[in-house]
Amino acid sequence: KGERLRLPPWLKTEIPIGKNYNKLKNTLRDLNLHTVCEEARCPNIGECWGGGEHATATATIMLMGDTCTRGCRFCSIKTARNPPPLDPDEPYNTAKAIAAWGLDYVVLTSVDRDDLADGGAEHFAKTVSNLKERSPHILVECLTPDFRGDLSSVETIALSGLDVYAHNVETVRELQRYVRDPRANIDQSLSVLRHAKQVKPGLLTKTSIMLGLGETDTQIHATLKDLRDAGVDCLTLGQYMQPTKRHLKVEEYVTPEKFAYWEKIGQKMGFVYTASGPLVRSSYKAGEFFLKNLLK
Ligand code: SF4
Ligand code: SF4
Repeated sequence: KGERLRLPPWLKTEIPIGKNYNKLKNTLRDLNLHTVCEEARCPNIGECWGGGEHATATATIMLMGDTCTRGCRFCSIKTARNPPPLDPDEPYNTAKAIAAWGLDYVVLTSVDRDDLADGGAEHFAKTVSNLKERSPHILVECLTPDFRGDLSSVETIALSGLDVYAHNVETVRELQRYVRDPRANIDQSLSVLRHAKQVKPGLLTKTSIMLGLGETDTQIHATLKDLRDAGVDCLTLGQYMQPTKRHLKVEEYVTPEKFAYWEKIGQKMGFVYTASGPLVRSSYKAGEFFLKNLLK
């Protein structure tokens, strides 16, 4: 075990704050929404919430509580075998709050709930349908758990009325056991993504990979190929950051040039959208891209 790596200069830069940021921040207070943007202190919050003058506002909302039944080694979310029961009013209340908040693009995500028979799929889907009923113009991405590979749960989400189905494979095949909870694995995740597309062929699928965990270029290439074979449309690559000392160490700070290289590779391999950069997160500027390019 070596020393902790020093933070490189490209991760120390200030992120610009756009015009809508303060407005969204102020109106959020009374809405009782839990945003990953704030809770994970995401470095992109200024850009996602504010954008430029005509930019779209994007945020990521957490459903189903703050306690996960899994414990991935890169993630700082609380873990318990039996988290508190779901709030049956959450789908309705969350949809109402999001509609009132003024977003253009919303990512709904959740902890894993292996304690629930359907992993919370119905709850997720209800939130989407409530939201689409109120605000059909808001684009909805669901960033879901793997539902232990249960394809009927995947179907419930895929048919809920969402626009983008996202599920993160997180890392290359070879590092899955080391990085993710042992109940997760890449073939299960690939089958979730493949199935979502089969159920609803027009649906966009999306995944995210963290770099800097010790993966090799060959391993990244092979994993991208697996993703394309599963029909995945969109890819994001970002730097892994260690949330606390108890979590996996950063093995490497990948340079912006190398991230740019992967962006090119992604394009060449046929992903319709590849975002790759040190600060890119799964939902980074998603609204901007999807609203302008793919969904009219
Ligand atoms: Fe929120 Fe995702 Fe944007 Fe970060 S990248 S601010 S989590 S929407
Ligand atoms: Fe974190 Fe998701 Fe892993 Fe749960 S399943 S520990 S929320 S990354």
